[in-house]
Amino acid sequence: MNFKKYKEKIIAVVIFILANIICPIFVSKFENIDFKNAFAIMWKKIFEVIGNILTFSIPVWVIIIIIVILYIILRIYLKIDEAKDEDESWYKNYSSDIYNGLLYEWRYNRIGNQIEIKDVTPVCVECKGNILPKDAGYKTVLYCPNCNKTYKNPDREEYDSARVYFNNKLKKIIEEHNQKVKMDCQK
Ligand SMILES: [Zn+2]
Repeated sequence: MNFKKYKEKIIAVVIFILANIICPIFVSKFENIDFKNAFAIMWKKIFEVIGNILTFSIPVWVIIIIIVILYIILRIYLKIDEAKDEDESWYKNYSSDIYNGLLYEWRYNRIGNQIEIKDVTPVCVECKGNILPKDAGYKTVLYCPNCNKTYKNPDREEYDSARVYFNNKLKKIIEEHNQKVKMDCQK
């Protein structure tokens, strides 16, 4: 069974069950009543609150404050979740590659599990510096001002092919990583 996949649902259920035990204990202590009555009172209160929201008898500002608090909690939770998976070297190490004799570099854009290659740019093989187009009579070449080296200028089609080539390799890296994570979870 893949625990990571169900982890959040299991935590939610456990919290729900604990809340159903702990809250009535507190209510029964404060109100000096038994657990069964406290349990009933708690759920009556919850339904009252839901009913009040549905009938709009709760002021709008209270609802806004609740939404803001929930939003802050969600943001903090997402931050913690992000920090947990800090090691991104497994894909970030692949940030340059050669296609058709030309070295390219790029950066990554990651939103959650979506990893995208951005700004694929040809660079100088010697110094890894940026290269720029230069008119060489009958054709345009790419030129490194630092090393004085020239490279052939890829046309649109070749540039697109390079991007697809790198993206396909990234796809494989992601697949292998996911496979590894899955295996680690099953251990
Ligand atoms: Zn150079």
